Order: sequence, then C-alpha cells, then structure tokens
Amino acid sequence: MDRIFGIDLGTTNSLIAVMENGEPRVLADLETGRTLLPSVVAIAPDGGVAVGDAAIALETEAQRSSVVIRSVKRYMGLGGGELGAEERRRYQFADLSGPVVRFKVGDRVHTPPQISAEILRALKRRAEAAFGGERVERAVVTVPAYFNDAQRQATKDAGRLAGLEVVRLVNEPTAASLAYGLNQLTDGYVAVYDFGGGTFDISILNIKGGVFEVIATNGDTHLGGDDLDQAIVAEVLAGLPEEARPDRELWSRARTAAEAAKQRLTVAESAEIRLATGAGVIERTLSRADFERLAAPIVERTIECCRRALADAQLAPAAIDAVVLVGGSTRSPIVRRRVAEVFGREPFCTIDPDEVVALGAAVQGGVLTGARSDLLLLDVAPLSLGIETMGGLMERLIHRNSAIPTSVTGGFTTAVDNQTHVDVHVLQGEREMARDCRSLARFKLGPIEPGPAGIPRIEVTFLIDANGILNVTARDQRTGREHSVDVKPSYGLSDEEIERMLEESIDLGEQDLEERLLIAARNDADQILAALAKQLGEYGDLVDAGERRRMAEAAERLETARSGTDRELIARLVEELNEASTPFAHRIMDRAIGEALKRKSVDEFS
Ligand code: ADP
Ligand code: MG
Repeated sequence: MDRIFGIDLGTTNSLIAVMENGEPRVLADLETGRTLLPSVVAIAPDGGVAVGDAAIALETEAQRSSVVIRSVKRYMGLGGGELGAEERRRYQFADLSGPVVRFKVGDRVHTPPQISAEILRALKRRAEAAFGGERVERAVVTVPAYFNDAQRQATKDAGRLAGLEVVRLVNEPTAASLAYGLNQLTDGYVAVYDFGGGTFDISILNIKGGVFEVIATNGDTHLGGDDLDQAIVAEVLAGLPEEARPDRELWSRARTAAEAAKQRLTVAESAEIRLATGAGVIERTLSRADFERLAAPIVERTIECCRRALADAQLAPAAIDAVVLVGGSTRSPIVRRRVAEVFGREPFCTIDPDEVVALGAAVQGGVLTGARSDLLLLDVAPLSLGIETMGGLMERLIHRNSAIPTSVTGGFTTAVDNQTHVDVHVLQGEREMARDCRSLARFKLGPIEPGPAGIPRIEVTFLIDANGILNVTARDQRTGREHSVDVKPSYGLSDEEIERMLEESIDLGEQDLEERLLIAARNDADQILAALAKQLGEYGDLVDAGERRRMAEAAERLETARSGTDRELIARLVEELNEASTPFAHRIMDRAIGEALKRKSVDEFS
C-alpha cells in the first residue's frame, strides 16, 4: 500500500494518523491504547534508548544513569550559540561552539535530529504494528509556522534518520484547518489558536475557492501549559520555609501534581494537591477560581499575540469567520472563554485538540497520494527575505507573510565600474540594515562581463518550495552565467530570535527608516560626485573656467554635507549640483551622439 502517514511531532506529545476509507484516524499504541506519545527520549550511556512513558519512568527513577530529554523540538536546527539560558541549563552539551547542538550522554553525543528520530521511529513502529507489519515509509510531518529553514531541515533530517521519507512539511495550523475540512467553507478567514505544552501559536488563514493561505502568524515559543503548571507550583510551594528549599526531585513531583490538578479543574470545580516535602506534607485544595486567577495573566499573553496577528493581517476580530482550537491547553475553560470573548464567536473544538494536527497531516498525506485532489495548500514565509545592496541596505524580495510556495525575481546591478564579480548576500529579517538582519548565505557570482557601474544586469531569483526551503539563484544576463544555492544554514535561528527580530523591527522601525533614507541620500551624492569627476576627466574641454568653478564649489558643498547626517541637506545639494552640471551633461550627450553618428556612417560606408 502506498499510504502516506501524518505525524504531529510535538514539543510535548507526538502522534501518528492515516487516512482510511476517506477519513483520517489516529493510531493508538496496541498495548496501552494511548494515542499520545510523550515526546520524551531517555538515552542510556551505552546508547540504549527509551521513548515516551518508558522514558518518563526512567526520569523519576532514583538513581538514574540515563539522560532524559524533553522538548527536543526546542533544540532542532539550532547552533550552540543560539540556545536560550533555560535550554542551555537543562542538559549537558558537547562543545557549544559548534554549528549544531549535541547532547552529551556519557561519552557519546546525540544531535537533536537523532533524538527526534527516536520519537519518529517509535511512531513508525506503532503504525507498522497497526497494519500487521506493513512497511511504513512515507509521512507528512507538521512543523510550527514559525520554523525557519534550519529547523525545517532538521525535521526532515530526523525523518531520514528514522527511515521515513518526509514527503511534505506542513504548518501545524494549516493541518488543523484541514482536519476540520474548512476548505469546504465558503471563502473566509480562519484563526487557529494553538496552546500546547510549551508553546503558543496563533495563525490567521484565508480560504479562497478551497485554497488555504496563511496570511499572518504570531506566538510565543515559551508560553504553554507548562507555565500554568509552574504557576500552580509556585502558589503551592510559596509557604515553604527557607530551610526546606525545594530540590529538583520535589520540583518534579510538584509539577506532576500541579498538572494533574490543572487537568482535573478542566472538568471539576476543585482539585486536591498533596505533596510530601522536607517540611511536612502540603495539602491544598485549589478551586477553579483559584486556578483561573493564576492562569489569567498567562492566558492574556496569548490574547496579546492574537491581537498582533490580527493587526498583521489587518483584520478586526469580527472579520474572522471561524476559530479553531488546537493543543491540550485549550481544554481549560478559561482559555475557551477568553478566545470566544476576543473573537466574538464560539471556537471549533469538536475534534480532540490533541489530535487535530495529526489528523490534518493524514488528510494532507491523502491529498499527496492522490486520494484527495480537491485541496491545495499554501503557507506563509514568516520573515522577509532579501539581499544586501549598496550602502548595506536590506532589499526585500519576499515579504514577511507572503504565501509560499513562491518565486520572486529582482533586477540588480553593480556599484563600481568594471566589477568582475558580484557578492550576493542573502538576508532574512525585518530591519532596514543588512547588519541587523540574519545572514543566511553569501556567494560570489562571476566572472561577469565588466562594464560601467550600473550597467550589468544581475537577476536574482528567490524560490521558496512547498516545504518552506529557500533556493537563491543569481544570473548575469549578459553572459548567462548563474550561481545557485539551496539555503540550508548550518545553524538555525531560534524562535526567540525571530520574535526579537520582529519586535525590534516594530520598535526601531522609525529609526531604521531614517537611517535608510540617510544612506540612500549618501548613495545619490556618491553617484553624482563620481559621475561628475569622470565626465570632467573625459570631456574637460566642454566646460569653461566659470562653469568649472561653479560645479567644483557645488561639489565641495555636497562632499562636506555628505559626511554629516543631515539627509535633507544632502538631498538639496545633490539637486544643486545636478542643476549646475546639467548644461555640461547636455553637451556631453550632444557630442556622444555626434560621435556615434559619425561611427555609424563610417561603418555603413566602409
Ligand atoms: P504540544 O503541542 O506542545 O506537544 P499538546 O498539544 O500535547 O502540546 O498539549 C500539552 C499540554 O496540554 C500540557 O501542558 C497538558 O497539561 C495540557 N493538557 C492536556 N489535557 C488537559 C486538560 N484536560 N486540561 C488542561 N490542560 C490539559
Ligand atoms: Mg502541538
């Protein structure tokens, strides 16, 4: 059978699903009947591996020699230098200066894709068992809409390591919408609110003629059900005397108890927490109101993200036609209530919020096997992509939140006479200056046919494929020579960094614009000064002394202004020099035309 499975490779939990008789179905573990596989991997010093509940059991064992890794998704596609303080503290790593994070277990090291591959392998085995030993080889795997190239690449690598061909990466919100069959809705906007264990994502999709397009995404990579658990733990342990400081082991038990209480409070009005500590047993009854008081500020942070996504999409909450709930944390009544209030409508929650992404991935798998041909998926580029141009400016080719797959071509030229090579510097980010954006790749195109500055035509094409992976091609139109790179950065950009870059671009937008305008004015000044010097050298005989002096004075004023920061003054003086040299320019033109005509006549009659 040519099945393509759907896998939700989650930070907290992972699942596998498949299409059967036209419907997606999540596959349960044959022994336990559970569909969720905790995304937890234990590795023994001898390399032995346990996944899921078996790994969690090792975590609580008193003398553990295995290293138990949770939330490996947070490490995917990152270099050691990109780890947040929390991620760095949590495990031991080998040489964090390298381009890829490596967990240290005994004297072995393991990369994040290797760890994720263990989760995928466990899901693959589950599916093989469910289908009587049939080989499971192809899968659609979901990723957060925010994942960058390196993170997507790392996810594909994990699949390969697990012996799975990842035929498509699909954004999680897109998968969730598919599970609800929202493509069959008449045209409209959908908001997908995904509140999981450790992350929050909001995505706004546009449905048009059965086609999904993600038009905006926002979120927080360190905001999830874990925060709700922590808030409960802090409350419960608050009364603990100084000398009974909670140790690692107590924290861990407290968190487990808090999570259980939180989940009970989803259906019950109160929950008991009992915790043995060094200073006696803590017993506490938590009412739903208590919990909601603790949860409110955390839930409000998700609402803030929703507001930002709506602003990005330029939509009012009332313009949203359907709201989809995803992630285990959306089971809490306070979450549902707030989401309903903010969007002014009841959210879709009939499909299990834990399973909805995996089900959607299976639907997409069905589409790819040809079982469903009525759907086409469009996703969105989370950050702008472009290249560095004169003066260190970032020139955008693909704008943030553009639909992908997409291909955009821009025309560029040289900055200096007789350049034989051009440097193509590929950038990602929202800032105006190249140095403030993230450098994705750098390559040289050449040799190109040398010519005066501004004459060679270099075409740069950015292509983002359906997996969100970027290919950049630069082509010299004259020689037809081209150079192309697949942007697979050796180390990735953390989600926090994406967020920081976005936030900075909002905060610093005005300052950036001012700087950009100044640099543009300076570029104009340089161009006209260089052109004038060159023309005076070649056509000096066409100016008299008075005109030469007037132009020299204007040029000097411009040069002085150019080293300052008053861009309006620079612009005015560029204009002044332009006017002073216009008659001269006309004469040069006349002569050039005359010479060309002369040459032409010689050619014609020889
Ligand atoms: P992820 O997408 O990060 O893998 P999940 O969607 O599986 O995460 O969500 C896991 C989170 O959902 C955990 O914080 C868990 O405590 C929470 N959760 C699960 N069931 C409930 C419930 N009944 N009430 C409240 N929270 C729940
Ligand atoms: Mg999830």
